[in-house]
Amino acid sequence: MSRAPLTLEGVSRSFESLRDLSLAGGTLDRAGLRRREPELLPLLLKDPLTRVVELVAGCALVTGSDSGCGLLLRSPQEQDAHRMAFFLGLDAGDTAYVGVVGEVRDPSEAEAWRNLREVGVLLSDRDAGLFATVQGLANWHATHGYCSACGAVTEPSQAGWLRLCTRDGTEHYPRTDPAVIMAVTDAADRLLLARSPRWQPGRLSVLAGFVEPGESLEAAVAREVLEEVGVVVEEVCYLGNQPWPFPSSLMLGFTARAVDPVLRLDHEEIVEAVWVSRAELAALVLAGRFAISPTVSIARRMIERWYGAPIDQIVDPASPFGR
Ligand SMILES: [Zn+2]
Repeated sequence: MSRAPLTLEGVSRSFESLRDLSLAGGTLDRAGLRRREPELLPLLLKDPLTRVVELVAGCALVTGSDSGCGLLLRSPQEQDAHRMAFFLGLDAGDTAYVGVVGEVRDPSEAEAWRNLREVGVLLSDRDAGLFATVQGLANWHATHGYCSACGAVTEPSQAGWLRLCTRDGTEHYPRTDPAVIMAVTDAADRLLLARSPRWQPGRLSVLAGFVEPGESLEAAVAREVLEEVGVVVEEVCYLGNQPWPFPSSLMLGFTARAVDPVLRLDHEEIVEAVWVSRAELAALVLAGRFAISPTVSIARRMIERWYGAPIDQIVDPASPFGR
């Protein structure tokens, strides 16, 4: 079957001002039409040229160092035929990639099993995209073993991109939950940082929340900021987006301007919030009083975009706050 090559470079990105986000640059052609081919996975898992990504308890085998690393892809093994598996797509050379969910990590390679939060920023776009897709699909399959319509057992279908109810045939597709995340600034261009009660004191980030049914993204930004810190915002502008499969989010980044900076915290979702100038942020980071979101996250990139430089440049790289 002839197939037009799919290139993702430049697709839908011209209007984003936050580019090259970790996990967001997957390069494979997902070749979704091939998922319906009967026996696609069994055939690919018999072909030694197929490249397999194995996920075990949220970790994959990674080679390399902290200056740059890659997924350790392998040929199919006999036991893969009995595992949860997903067809991930094709590269430019038509090599097929398959994700499998394994049971036990090889203890002789303990050091090489790494999770996506740890290595997402170090991997190539291809590998970060593969890892994020496998992680997201594995999370979804793990929690959708039963039909939400009738309660019967569901079974994987379409090369891992569908689950079918064994009783009534209802089709269940993998879910992605849209979440907005927003860098709110005031008239003096100070940034709003806040802490969830789930986080240790000293860890702050920009606000975020899930989009509700019947709600636009811009309305979700305004509602979340108002609910969590009592601030009315305007000038809501899109920045960029990042798959965040922990377990199933798509983070949609925005900027927004506060009409009035007076904070009225809800004390349930947010227990601490503060406006910071760039000088205040730098001083807090240098003093070790501020744990900024990890480098892999869109939150970190949004804070750095506002600050105007990577946070690492104002902190000792050996400090835990620099990571
Ligand atoms: Zn059912």
